[in-house]
Amino acid sequence: MTIDMKPDVKIDANYYKVLQIRKLTEHTFILSLPGSRFKFVAGQHISLSIQGDYQSREYSIYSAEEGQNLEILVKEVDGGYFSPKLKHLKVGDMVEVHGPFGKFGLDEKHADTHKHVFIASGTGIAPFHSIVKSRPGLDYHLIHGVKLGEEAYERNEYDAERYTLCTSRDGSGDFEGRLTAYLKTQEFGKNTSFYLCGNSDMIFDSMEILREKGFNRENINVEVYF
Ligand SMILES: Cc1cc2nc3c(=O)[nH]c(=O)nc-3n(C[C@H](O)[C@H](O)[C@H](O)COP(=O)(O)OP(=O)(O)OC[C@H]3O[C@@H](n4cnc5c(N)ncnc54)[C@H](O)[C@@H]3O)c2cc1C
Repeated sequence: MTIDMKPDVKIDANYYKVLQIRKLTEHTFILSLPGSRFKFVAGQHISLSIQGDYQSREYSIYSAEEGQNLEILVKEVDGGYFSPKLKHLKVGDMVEVHGPFGKFGLDEKHADTHKHVFIASGTGIAPFHSIVKSRPGLDYHLIHGVKLGEEAYERNEYDAERYTLCTSRDGSGDFEGRLTAYLKTQEFGKNTSFYLCGNSDMIFDSMEILREKGFNRENINVEVYF
C-alpha cells in the first residue's frame, strides 16, 4: 500500500521513522516508532528491516495496543547481524515494518476466569509488557529469568507483587537461580493459564516442569525466540 503525499512523492506505508532509542542497559534498548496507524493484538510480533538492508528479523511488540508509539525491546546479540545495526539507528532513520503476525497472546476464553502466569527469559518479557499494559486489572504473575539484576527491564512498570525476578548470576533478584528452579518451588491452581516466551531451552524445561505439575499443552501458550 502507498500513501500519496504530493502527486510526485509517494512513501510506502510500511516505512516508519525512528522516533527514539531508549537505552535500558549497555546492550538493551527500546526502539520507538509512530504507532497511530498500526493495529495489533497484545502478544503479536512484527517483522522489521532497515531501509537499504535486505535482512529482516521478528520482534514482539512491547507497547500497549492503544499506545501512542509502536515500541520493541531489543537485546543487541554479540556477533549478531541485525540487532547491532538496530542499536546504531538514529532518530529520523527509516525502518520497514510488516505485520502484525502471530497468535501468541492472552487466552481470551479464560481471560477473566483464570490466573495468567507469564514466564519470560530475557527480552521474552516484551509481549507480557504489552499484555499487562493493554489489560488493566488482569490477574497475572510474571516470572522473569535473567542473568543479572540490571536486566529487569522496566520492572517498575509491573505491580510489584505480581513480578518475580530470578537472577542466575547475581543475588539481586527476588529469587537467586534460574527461573526453572523457581518454577519447581511454585504451586498453581487448576484455573491457571501459562504463557512462555524466550529461548527454547527455557521453554522446553519449563514445559516439562509444568507437565510434572499436571498441566498439559492445552493450558500452555508458547512463543520461541531462538
Ligand atoms: C517471534 C519472535 C519474536 C522475537 N522478539 C524479540 C524481541 O522482542 N526482542 C529481541 O531482542 N529479540 C526478539 N527475537 C529475536 C530476533 O528476531 C533476532 O533473532 C535477534 O535480534 C538476533 O538477531 P541478529 O541478526 O542480531 O542475530 P543473528 O545474526 O541472526 O544470530 C542469531 C543468534 O542470536 C541469538 N539470539 C537471538 N535472539 C536473542 C535474544 N533476544 N537474546 C539473546 N540471544 C539471542 C541466538 O543464539 C541466535 O542463534 C524474536 C524472535 C522471534 C522468532
